[in-house]
Amino acid sequence: MGDRTSDIWGERTPHARGTAWPSRVDTHLAGCDEHEVDRWVQSACLLCSNGCGLDIAVKDDRMVGVRGRETDRVNHGRLGPKGLYASTPWATSDDRLTRPLIRQGGELVETEWETAMGRIVARSKRLLDEVGPLSHGFYTSGQLFLEEYYLQAIIGKAGIGTAHMDGNTRLCTATAAASFKESFGADGQPGSYTDIEHCDAIFLYGHNMAETQTVLWARVLDRTHGADPPRIVCVDPRRTPVAVEAERTGGLHLAPVVGTNLALMNALTRELIENDWVEQEWVSAHTIGFHDLEQVVAPYPPEEAERITGVPAADIRRAARIFAESEAVLSTVLQGFYQSHQATAAAVAVNNLHLLRGQIGRPGCGILQMNGQPTAQNNRETGADGDLTGFRNWQNEEHVQQLAEHWNVDPLVIPHWAPPTHAMQIFSYAEQGSVRLLWISATNPAVSMPESGRIREILSSDRVFVVVQDLFLTETAELADVVLPAAGWGEKTGCFTNVDRTVHLSEKAVDPPGEARSDLDIFLMYADRMDFRDQDGGPLVKFRTPEEAFEAWKEVTRGRHVDYTGLSYDRLRGPTGIQWPCNDEHPDGCERLYADATFWTDTDYCETYGHDLVTGGAVTEQEHRAVRPAGRAFLKGAEYTPAHEAPSDDYPLLFTNGRSVYQFHTRTKTGRSKPLHRAAPDAWVELSERDAAARGIAEGDWVRVESPRGSIEVRARIGSVMEGAVFAPFHYGRFDPDGTSPDPDRRQANALTMTDWDPVSKQPTFKTAACQVTRVDPPGRS
Ligand code: SF4
Repeated sequence: MGDRTSDIWGERTPHARGTAWPSRVDTHLAGCDEHEVDRWVQSACLLCSNGCGLDIAVKDDRMVGVRGRETDRVNHGRLGPKGLYASTPWATSDDRLTRPLIRQGGELVETEWETAMGRIVARSKRLLDEVGPLSHGFYTSGQLFLEEYYLQAIIGKAGIGTAHMDGNTRLCTATAAASFKESFGADGQPGSYTDIEHCDAIFLYGHNMAETQTVLWARVLDRTHGADPPRIVCVDPRRTPVAVEAERTGGLHLAPVVGTNLALMNALTRELIENDWVEQEWVSAHTIGFHDLEQVVAPYPPEEAERITGVPAADIRRAARIFAESEAVLSTVLQGFYQSHQATAAAVAVNNLHLLRGQIGRPGCGILQMNGQPTAQNNRETGADGDLTGFRNWQNEEHVQQLAEHWNVDPLVIPHWAPPTHAMQIFSYAEQGSVRLLWISATNPAVSMPESGRIREILSSDRVFVVVQDLFLTETAELADVVLPAAGWGEKTGCFTNVDRTVHLSEKAVDPPGEARSDLDIFLMYADRMDFRDQDGGPLVKFRTPEEAFEAWKEVTRGRHVDYTGLSYDRLRGPTGIQWPCNDEHPDGCERLYADATFWTDTDYCETYGHDLVTGGAVTEQEHRAVRPAGRAFLKGAEYTPAHEAPSDDYPLLFTNGRSVYQFHTRTKTGRSKPLHRAAPDAWVELSERDAAARGIAEGDWVRVESPRGSIEVRARIGSVMEGAVFAPFHYGRFDPDGTSPDPDRRQANALTMTDWDPVSKQPTFKTAACQVTRVDPPGRS
């Protein structure tokens, strides 16, 4: 295998439509050969949401590399650059946290576990006595294991009783969940990765799959390079590798002005209706809302959409025709929609297109509302993001009662008097002083949240007691009152579920360093010290090991569509991950949801009664019941509205941010991989040729990018974004492993982004902020 930082997707294994994706096993070992490996330990990759099956190589009780699992349904043996080069080096990094830290005299100093946990428990008990449950906020991750989220959900909902729980999944995947709830009644990915083998068109909406899910993109490339290839349609303001492939294969690249996705989607929807491309019989039988949708999209003929989005009307017509003429369309959606203006409405519009064509639940007709993170799905399933566990409805008393019975607590303890508090609001409460204990696990909001200068101020303030558990002293951990050293992937056991509902078991391969503990053990220690009890006086948390936690989780999913009851650790030790639902009806898992065109919209079953997609106003139970959805999907539309921060004379450009193929999130792991760090050591900003020329900026020049909230100074790259747009990767904070960056304090993309969120999904609007770009002297030369 060659250098996969330059050959990102590896060699092609082309194949024809309807045939199986050939396997290809990718392996990377650091400093040893395969025959020198002591043992291989089963797992799956934790560096994006694709969930590639792999085995961890262990030599001398150290993780030394990975090998893709040839038999796994997700990747057929392949791994991408991040999985290959960043899965293991971080584990033996010299700067791992190995002992708890507490703040003393303004400094973080090492201490014993008893002291650190004692400090947390004392503060927690005092706040519960003096203020009540809403003094507590939990902000977790998209990278813990299912069992750990489930425990956190029990502690938050039934132990403390706080509605203030969320994860950084709010930043990456909340809109995926919201779109499913609005269209189909409940969260749950309908599609399967095998839809790539069966489709004849792939629409990628704001999804640079080539860089964010490299193995999935290799799967697409093996179709586009084979016989009878699918046509690709790419919606993205940047000319990404996906856009290039779309053009190469006779498809289309649509580049809407930043913040105008919904206007484009409304025009595509209108085209299907106007040209009589709607499967009327299917739509009448299985959906509600068609006539309202027809009226909402009527004002968006392609010419009007061209005026708003800049996408030529002819291209809009052609894209709609490709959708309509295809027997099986696969749609994928990611942050270009989720983190932009009118996020949920635009993501729901993708679901609408499939419903209008009756293209759901059969091979090739997948919708992959992607997740940004590897275990985001589990965060949502368990309710560590504040939702009610098992995709239940917090407004449904019967659903709350079911959970109360599972946990043997009074239903009144479980917060369900108001919507769960989303992350942006939790941080605002911390800013205002009502959340006074904020527990952050496995995430780095000081770099990853919008308007990051404000977030750092909140975390630094005396008003809130901050607990951080993580692998390293991140930019966030540096600001904490207590820091707990956590075990990472490969150092603990647990399950996680990827975007197409495939559940993998990840086994412990090595011990964590020093006194680091698994997140499950940390939360168990807290639950024990807090002495959380059920209503019979027994311990609230009745499991002690990951497998016991998984068994408990299975029971709470019984009777819900997210049904894990047919799974077990033993079954997951087989050749491949298994898709939920897995139960008596689907003993080997279920490839696609909605094969019978029955959706989870029954009023007594659904996860939400829905929202107005423009305002976020909630639909009431009575209103929902009145339309008698009874298993039919909702067709919902929304008018386009301009973004909240428009370009001005001072800030004439629109800023958007995203990922690089070589880094993941705030680089906690990928930044400690030498090949990946070498490939992308520092931040940059991308400008169109015309915008750069107008400012006298050449490739490689240092530039200042400034928004009303802050500024960064980084090098310029010219040519890959549309005119008027500015792109920067969001990975880079102060962490700078070898001093590459001349000024690591001036490169954080989220210094520019704003405190604003989608009215339905509450996902922050990272991709729509006004900015200005000017050429500056290199650092140290001014
Ligand atoms: S595609 Fe994602 S899950 Fe697969 S190896 Fe790459 S980073 Fe890991």
